[in-house]
Amino acid sequence: MNADKWYDFIKRKEYLIVIREKLSDLDPRYNTTYVNMFLLIGTDSALLIDTGCGLFPLKPYIREFINDKKLFVVNTHSHFDHIGANGEFNEVFIHEKEHKSITVPLDLSFLKELTNDYVKLFEDRNYVLQPANKVTILEENQVFDLGNIVVKYIYSPGHSPGSISLYTNKGELFTGDLAHYGALFLPPKDQCFTVLESITKLIALCEMNNIEEIYPSHEDFLTNKALLTDLFSILKNIDNFWESRKADKFNKSWVIEIKKFKFFIKVGMKERREFREFLKNN
Ligand SMILES: [Zn+2]
Repeated sequence: MNADKWYDFIKRKEYLIVIREKLSDLDPRYNTTYVNMFLLIGTDSALLIDTGCGLFPLKPYIREFINDKKLFVVNTHSHFDHIGANGEFNEVFIHEKEHKSITVPLDLSFLKELTNDYVKLFEDRNYVLQPANKVTILEENQVFDLGNIVVKYIYSPGHSPGSISLYTNKGELFTGDLAHYGALFLPPKDQCFTVLESITKLIALCEMNNIEEIYPSHEDFLTNKALLTDLFSILKNIDNFWESRKADKFNKSWVIEIKKFKFFIKVGMKERREFREFLKNN
């Protein structure tokens, strides 16, 4: 078991490297196989989107790709599978709504319940992930000018309050955890309109900027606009599928499988009793 086997590097384009790790090997409870990180390498500097689970050192690999170019690091949001290696970097950018949670060490003790060899690698670090030296709030019109590539972000809450998506001037959109196939984690049903609003924003963004390629942070690392339009139309009609829901104890979520999506919808305050009944009866 070593870092060379843990990370997968896929050279998608001359300037775009996909970095993958298998979340299911570490913690299968998220029903998710892959975490995708992305490294954009411009003529002047580079940008890393997310830092993964932090199981093995990541920075040495990034340096191999970019040599001594300046590196910007951005987190799409603050969940552990996106900020794990933040501690290796000097500065990390994030939306202000999730700024606080990544300025302090992150407790991973929930992983202790698992017994696989990967989880044990966190033992030496007492199941704590260290934050970056400096955490910087994204400015409203923040632009990462990498030389020949310009990257901007768009606020796209829903999966979490401070979730962002990023896009380039070359036709790529990185959706973070807002939109991907497979297990998609959503807020309580009465809050899902925020997800729909964000998806609407991204569809408009794609049209305005001729974006054809969509790169999500989980599962298929490359997809297209159908992801957004399919997700929108299914999620808008989620009530029609509500009867088919199951209950997931670990994620405290309702689970509904529709086509290529497995929705994990957080249990709302008013649904807690019903949820407990569901767990008892299933
Ligand atoms: Zn995630």
